[in-house]
Amino acid sequence: MRYTKLFLPTLREIPADAEVISHQLMLRAGMLRKLTSGIYTYLPLGLRAIKKVEKIIREEMERAGAQEVLMPTVQPADLWKESSRWDVYGKELVRFKDRHGRDYCLGPTHEEVITDLIRGEVRSYRDLPLNLYQIQNKFRDEIRPRFGLMRGREFSMKDAYSFDADEEGAAKSYQSMSGAYNRIFERCGLNFKAVEADTGNIGGSFSHEFMVLADTGEDAIVSCVECDYAANMEKAEVNPDYITKEQHETLPVSMERVSTPNVRTVEEVTQFLSVTPKQLVKTMIFETSAEPVAVLVRGDHEVNPAKVKNVLGVETLELASEETVLKLTGAPAGFAGAVGLSIKIIADKAVEPIKNMVMGANEKDAHFIGVNRGRDFEVSEFADLRLVTHSDRCPRCGKAIEIKRGIEVGHIFKLGDKYSKALSATYLDQNGNKRYIIMGCYGIGVGRTVAAAIEQNHDKNGIIFPMPIAPYQVVILPLQMRDGEVVSAAEALYEQLTGQGAEVLLDDRDERAGVKFKDADLIGVPVRVTIGKKSLKEGKLEVQFRATGEKELVSQEGAEKVILDMIKRELGN
Ligand code: ATP
Ligand code: MG
Repeated sequence: MRYTKLFLPTLREIPADAEVISHQLMLRAGMLRKLTSGIYTYLPLGLRAIKKVEKIIREEMERAGAQEVLMPTVQPADLWKESSRWDVYGKELVRFKDRHGRDYCLGPTHEEVITDLIRGEVRSYRDLPLNLYQIQNKFRDEIRPRFGLMRGREFSMKDAYSFDADEEGAAKSYQSMSGAYNRIFERCGLNFKAVEADTGNIGGSFSHEFMVLADTGEDAIVSCVECDYAANMEKAEVNPDYITKEQHETLPVSMERVSTPNVRTVEEVTQFLSVTPKQLVKTMIFETSAEPVAVLVRGDHEVNPAKVKNVLGVETLELASEETVLKLTGAPAGFAGAVGLSIKIIADKAVEPIKNMVMGANEKDAHFIGVNRGRDFEVSEFADLRLVTHSDRCPRCGKAIEIKRGIEVGHIFKLGDKYSKALSATYLDQNGNKRYIIMGCYGIGVGRTVAAAIEQNHDKNGIIFPMPIAPYQVVILPLQMRDGEVVSAAEALYEQLTGQGAEVLLDDRDERAGVKFKDADLIGVPVRVTIGKKSLKEGKLEVQFRATGEKELVSQEGAEKVILDMIKRELGN
C-alpha cells in the first residue's frame, strides 16, 4: 500500500476525551473514529489489526475443532423469556418493538439463539460433541462506555458454544478451548494470565478469565506469589485464618449508645471513639431481586457484591439508595447497624469472632458500643462476603498474595445444563433415554484484544505492534522523493517484498524525513526500512526493528532476505 493512497488520518495532539494510552494511540494512529458514545468506525489501519486478531482466532478455533457460523444481531424476546433472562439482564440489554408490537433485543450474547438452533437440530448422542463459534458484533448498553474499544457499546466478539453428552465431555471441551485461548493470546503477543472468575450474568458453574496485565485494567486480579492460584477479585476466596486468641478471650461488656455527631465514615468513627477498624462493624444495605438485605463486614474490609449475590442466590443486587437506607433503618447512610434492624442480616465470617463491636445505632448522629451478636442482634448466615486485601493469604497454600490490574480479553464458562434445561435442548443417549445437552460458552473481545495489545506495547513515540497483529509488517521510507535513485530503490524493494507476501507500506509522500519517522513510529509498523541518498551511494539501506530499536545497514541486494527473515522470526514460524 502507498501512503499517499491510504486513508490514514493521524493526529499530532492527544485527543481530549481519550483517557487511556491505547485509546489515545488508536485515535492518533488513525485506526478508529467515534460515531457516538461507545460506538466506533474502524478505519483501514484499525480494521487490518482487527482482522489479524480474527484470523488468529479462526485458526485456533478450527484447530480445536470448532466450526464457524454467523447468528443474527436481532433476537426475539420470546427466547429470552424462555431462559428467564429477559427480566434479569437489566438495562444493558437494548429492547425494542417491531411494527407488530413484538418484542426484540440486540444480542449482547448468544446462548439463547444457539440453544434454540441446537434443540431443533441435535437428536442423538451421535450428533455430539459439537462446537460452534462466530465473530459478530454485540450490543450492550454499558453504563460507562469508555477507553475506546476497551469498553464499547457495540463491539466485536468471538463467541463459541460447546455441546456435549455429559460432564466428562464438557470438561474436555472446556480444556480444549482453554488451550486454544492460551495459544490465541500468546500469538497476539500478549502478557496474560488465566484466572478463576465469577460467572455473572451468563450463569453456569465454573469459569476462567484471560487477563492481560496492565495498570489501566478495570479488573483487580489476586494471585499467589508461590502456587498457581489466581482469581478475579470478584471471585477470590478469603483464607479463613483470621480468628485470633484475643478474640476468643475477650469478655462481653454491656451495650451503650454514644452520641457521634456528623461522624459516619470508618475513619471518622474509629478516630472519634478511639477504636481500631477491626472493632467496628459496617452495615451495608442492599436491594435485591428478592428482599432487601443487610450485610455486615469488619471496618477494615469491603463487601464483595458478587459473593453476596451468589450466597443469596438472587438475580440482581444493588447497594440501596440513601432514600431506601433511611426507610429501612430510620437513619441516614453512615448510621446503619444490626441492632433492632428488621430486615434479613447476613455477615462476613470475619465478623463472627468480634466481641464488643462498634456499629451504627440506626439513628442520626449515634453509634452503639459494646454490641454482641446473639445478645443484641442475630445473623441468619455467616459466609465469605468480602474482598480480599493485601494482608490476606493465599486460600490454597497460605502464602502471600499479590493484587494486580488486568484487562479481561477472554472468558470461558462451563454452563452445564442451565440453558439446555430452560430451553429443553435434549438428545437421546445410547439407551434411548432423553438427556439434557451439557454446554459451555467461550468469549473473546476482538477489539479489546487489539486495545490491550497496544496498552502493553507502546513507547512515547507510539504503538509497537507485535508482528502477528500489525496492520503492516514493513514500512519503507524513501527520504528524498525527488531523487530518482532513492525512489526507484524504494519501489524495487516494495515490489520484491510484496511479491513475497509481505505486507508493506511505502511512504511515498513528499515529506521531510522527520515527519516520516514520526508517523512510522506512531502507527507502530514493526520493521522500518530507511532509504537515503547518502547510504544508497554505497548500496546500503537501513533496517530497524521498532520494538528494540536495533538497526542494521544492509546491502540493497541483501535487504529482502533480512526483512523476510525478521518477519518470519517475529511470526514464530
Ligand atoms: P466485563 O466484565 O469487562 O464487562 P463481561 O464479563 O461482561 O466483561 P463476557 O460477557 O464474558 O464479558 O464477554 C466476553 C468478552 O467480550 C469479554 O471477555 C471481553 O473481552 C469482551 N467484552 C465484554 N464487554 C465488552 C465491551 N463493552 N466492549 C468491548 N469488549 C467487551
Ligand atoms: Mg460486562
